[in-house]
Amino acid sequence: HFITFEGIDGSGKSTQARLLAEALKAEGRDVVATREPGGSPGAEEIRRLVLEGDPDRWSAETEILLFTAARRDHLERLIDPSLAAGKIVICDRFADSTRMYQGLRGPGLRKVVDDLHRLMIGREPDLTFIIDMDPTTGHARAKGRNGTEERFEDFGADLQVQMREGFLALAKAEPGRCVVIDGDGTPEAVAARVADVARDRLPA
Ligand code: C5P
Repeated sequence: HFITFEGIDGSGKSTQARLLAEALKAEGRDVVATREPGGSPGAEEIRRLVLEGDPDRWSAETEILLFTAARRDHLERLIDPSLAAGKIVICDRFADSTRMYQGLRGPGLRKVVDDLHRLMIGREPDLTFIIDMDPTTGHARAKGRNGTEERFEDFGADLQVQMREGFLALAKAEPGRCVVIDGDGTPEAVAARVADVARDRLPA
């Protein structure tokens, strides 16, 4: 079973991915928790290439290629083998992030992301949690923590609003895969919403 968490910066999706992994492990399930960009040694190197240093180093097109390369490596080395071994894979971000973060940065880019995905990745999650959050609140939350990789300022508030709308549109278009979770409230309250849905969807 392949579960992903998506949402804008500061939505709390990383915390929620971790809490769900912990809850399922506590039930005795075999869980692999991972993240993107990254998740395998090669993909983590690509993450550093893109997220560290000059934010204008790469065009949106090049970022799509780099993140797709990273995803392919992650898939080959960790995700596919874990799923084949019957494990639950929980991933903090996956292709939907590229669809939004890079796909919304110019006309035609979403199609580029989708076409490359079909060619080189091909896998969709069984279940995607979209942690929904107002971008202003998300920004305040993201700024309050110690990460140095936040790109909110590079992207700007308008794009964050578009990304939120994009995630919600995705959930409407793919209701079988995507579940929108209200990200407001304590981490524990949000985690309870997530765990309810996950337990419903996972085989006993
Ligand atoms: O999810 P996480 O906080 O680890 O992401 C690190 C940074 O990478 C975030 O600031 C996010 O906006 C950015 N990112 C991106 N394109 C993606 C995925 C993440 O620019 N496809």
